[in-house]
Amino acid sequence: MTRTPADPRDKLLSVEQGRQRILQAVDAVTATEQLHLRAALGRVLAEAVVSAIDVPPFANSAMDGYAVRSADCDAATPTRLKITGSSFAGAPFTGAVRSGECIRIMTGAVLPEGADAVLMQEDVERDGEQISFDGESVQAGLNVRYAGEDTRRGDTVLEPGTRLGAAELGLLASVGVSEVRVSRKLRVAFFSTGDELVGVGMPLATGKIYDSNRYALYGLLASAGIECYDLGNIPDQRDAVRAAFRQAGEIADLVMTSGGVSVGEADYVTETLGELGEINFWRMAMKPGKPLAFGRLGNAVFFGLPGNPVSAMVTYYLFVLPAIRKMAGEPAREPLLIEARCSEALKKAPGRAEFQRGILRRDADGGWKVASTGVQGSHLLSSMTKANCLIHLPAESTGAKEGERVLAQPFSDFCL
Ligand code: AMP
Ligand code: MG
Repeated sequence: MTRTPADPRDKLLSVEQGRQRILQAVDAVTATEQLHLRAALGRVLAEAVVSAIDVPPFANSAMDGYAVRSADCDAATPTRLKITGSSFAGAPFTGAVRSGECIRIMTGAVLPEGADAVLMQEDVERDGEQISFDGESVQAGLNVRYAGEDTRRGDTVLEPGTRLGAAELGLLASVGVSEVRVSRKLRVAFFSTGDELVGVGMPLATGKIYDSNRYALYGLLASAGIECYDLGNIPDQRDAVRAAFRQAGEIADLVMTSGGVSVGEADYVTETLGELGEINFWRMAMKPGKPLAFGRLGNAVFFGLPGNPVSAMVTYYLFVLPAIRKMAGEPAREPLLIEARCSEALKKAPGRAEFQRGILRRDADGGWKVASTGVQGSHLLSSMTKANCLIHLPAESTGAKEGERVLAQPFSDFCL
């Protein structure tokens, strides 16, 4: 396929336009599987989970102390009650608490019949089998946790589209769920392109560099719970690139490449996508990462990321990750942007939106401050390890002065 400089698909797209087009073009995978709770960590729920029980299942004590009848508690004189039994967590008191009586109770133990309040043990004086205390502040419900306070029977505890983290696993276990239905894992095939690339463990000849993208991209995909297919490093040859495209398109829901999307003589990725698939667009008004190919390859979604290591990671965060989230069944969400003051001036030319590597921290006065990691070249991968956020500078921005407010997106917002 030949491309002319006037090809309409060469038009620069804004980052937001790009993201919207991507989200419109991708669909959630429909296949699901039933997994044990632990195996479902990091996966996305395919159906709502409804609780079959109340949590807590019974009224119980929030404190170690004494279960009493609030009507017995006297404001005028110290209240005296006789201890007639004990209720431990998991070993309830089987009788009832009658007037003038109390029972020793531990945190999480069933509140016995007749009792409606719990006194902290620190607030009573015990003398043998009797306690005395100031009854003034004792009201029904004191230190009582009621049945169903957390979750009621019939409540939807988690909606479909929820990614299951630690708290979700705990919540599911609390309602007694041992298995859940989740979307199947996404399959992503990826490869690097470039004659200059050498795999780690090999000697470096003149003019060669190590293939770092395949490791950084593997890290991003693996931490997103993706089933990864690493197809290696493909030389800058038409036939080799075509063969890799064919293989990737057959096995994956999403195909991701790095390098070869510019207009250099050895850049075959966009051309091959045009031949074997469909190009949606390929240039973004952003820095780093201006060349970005997006499209379809058979049934798979295709992303051709730029080769420069910072560009590859940043475009992954901004464009591939939202697609992955949608394909996994998660609802779209807005990025987490923190308003911070620049601790130094940030340089930028107007025209393209920039995503500078930044270090976000809280100042002594409690306000957010952000500093640049330094020189912002898209080949400087060390800047990604120093940074903890991306500073968003809009297209029209001409930089920021010291003390000016900018928006920063923490890297933790890119974690699933
Ligand atoms: P390209 O997009 O192929 O023109 O590559 C742009 C720059 O990124 C060049 O300096 C490449 O050497 C470099 N590059 C491309 N792929 C990788 C990779 N997998 N690892 C490290 N650097 C790369
Ligand atoms: Mg290249």
